[in-house]
Amino acid sequence: MRHSRAAADAVLDGLAHVRDWQQDFYRDLHRHPELSHREVDTARKVAERLREFGYEVHDGIGGTGVVGVLRNGVGPAVLLRADMDALPVEEATGLDYASTVRATDADGNEVPVMHACGHDVHVAALLGAAELLAEGTDHWGGTVVALFQPAEETSDGARAMVDDGLAELIPGVDVALAQHVLPAPAGRVGTAAGPLLSAADSMRVTVYGRGAHGSMPQAAVDPVVLAAMIVVRLQTIVSREVAPGDSAVLTVGSIQAGSKSNVIPDRAVLQLNIRTYSEQTRTAMLDAIRRIVTAECEASDSPREPEFDIFDRFPLTDNDTATTERVSDAFTTFFGDRCQPMPQQTASEDFSEIPAALGVPYTYWGLGGIEPAAYQEAAKRGRIDQEIPVNHSPTFAPVIQPTLDTGTQALVVAALAWLAPE
Ligand code: ZN
Ligand code: ZN
Repeated sequence: MRHSRAAADAVLDGLAHVRDWQQDFYRDLHRHPELSHREVDTARKVAERLREFGYEVHDGIGGTGVVGVLRNGVGPAVLLRADMDALPVEEATGLDYASTVRATDADGNEVPVMHACGHDVHVAALLGAAELLAEGTDHWGGTVVALFQPAEETSDGARAMVDDGLAELIPGVDVALAQHVLPAPAGRVGTAAGPLLSAADSMRVTVYGRGAHGSMPQAAVDPVVLAAMIVVRLQTIVSREVAPGDSAVLTVGSIQAGSKSNVIPDRAVLQLNIRTYSEQTRTAMLDAIRRIVTAECEASDSPREPEFDIFDRFPLTDNDTATTERVSDAFTTFFGDRCQPMPQQTASEDFSEIPAALGVPYTYWGLGGIEPAAYQEAAKRGRIDQEIPVNHSPTFAPVIQPTLDTGTQALVVAALAWLAPE
């Protein structure tokens, strides 16, 4: 780690100069957020900068995806990934660079748009790191692939880039790295080996009854009662079928049937969300849902087989042990005790689709974005959950510094753990 620390210090010497444009660039991104798959201006700004820094640029990958490649002699190749999309959330941060953008979503509705997940932090940090690595080529060897991904929030942006031939466009890489800003003190970074973010699946379940007048239940098969039994019985999956040491979530987020008090409807639709930390538990839970729904339909004498439709699937983020140790060692050497292990999250990410498609290991780390004093204050009073805004909230507002510096440093330090001379 001694060599990579020396290389990191040398490359990061230019950080003050990067900060000059990076903070303004970040404010501009924050003020002009774009919805998933619509990251047109963001992608254009990213591609422009990468060209300025001397990267070979491929754009329009999987829609609006952009990749910059910087070759610097023989050596390993490292892929660094940032996501670019914003959310249909109305910003309430009160920042002077807050978004007032409104846009039309995929369903044709006009919605407010906000960088409520901090992907603007990821883009600005990766561009900063890209410039530093381009200016500091004397201190490392190999190849940097800076990848800017669309549509993380809809869980299909990484897949879109892969399906659009990403593997053929870029040189082979040895490792893939990504980060996410989180409601933790700014200046902190941390990762952990193993399952870090959950796999997520959403499922629409349609069950059928036989409609009739509300006064004549004997002529009906009531899908409302059927759906109610299913909701109750589904609660037994996590409590009775998942091992106590494992963890999983099953939420019935939506249930719809009928429209009138005196009409028994002929169907009910339930929408489920499932979070798991292993492929085995995931398969077992999806199988259990099918088994319970099918059996409850039979118990109710349902006239038609139930239908299952899985959507919004996020893969498991399962950090490779050797890769994570290498990054953690480099972080600890550089950041000292500002590097803390990252606790397992119930959130999900589609980043791992990219290393999976390229057949390379990866690690994913968290980056604090909350003003440290405010965080400590809330912690002291045991009020973190109540007072510290989380990702996707209208008041999620990462402080610009030290968040951007730390995100930029983390990418450079992690990349150099492979690229610095031995
Ligand atoms: Zn998000
Ligand atoms: Zn996010």
